[in-house]
Amino acid sequence: MSDEEDERYDDEVPQQVADLASASVPLNLKTIRACKRCGLLKTQGQFYDEGCENCPFLEMTDNMERVNSCTTAFFEGTAAVMDPGESWAAKWIRVDNYLPGVYAITVTGQLDRDVEEDLENRGIRWRCRPSNSA
Ligand SMILES: [Zn+2]
Repeated sequence: MSDEEDERYDDEVPQQVADLASASVPLNLKTIRACKRCGLLKTQGQFYDEGCENCPFLEMTDNMERVNSCTTAFFEGTAAVMDPGESWAAKWIRVDNYLPGVYAITVTGQLDRDVEEDLENRGIRWRCRPSNSA
């Protein structure tokens, strides 16, 4: 008995994500990555082409090495945020100061040490999204 499972997944983005066409929307869910600092979700190619809108100082544009070290494929959950200042979801995942887009709810991993050092050397005040209990 052949029990061939047809694993055909729908590649289309959810409607609420499609509605965000003007915001930063991942174009291809297979190569999607999350910015390690803010959790913005985009494809590797989008990070390479545009960098991260929230974290321009990470200088990912045209730098695939930087894209790979500043983003991660390990994240859980997604939340489309259209109006970060007004959205309870944005506040809940702490992106209410960020730009509209699709965000990971949790991101695994942190910036590489050499990236951190680079930012510190340049005097850039950055903070990863998860709140460090102060
Ligand atoms: Zn970012």
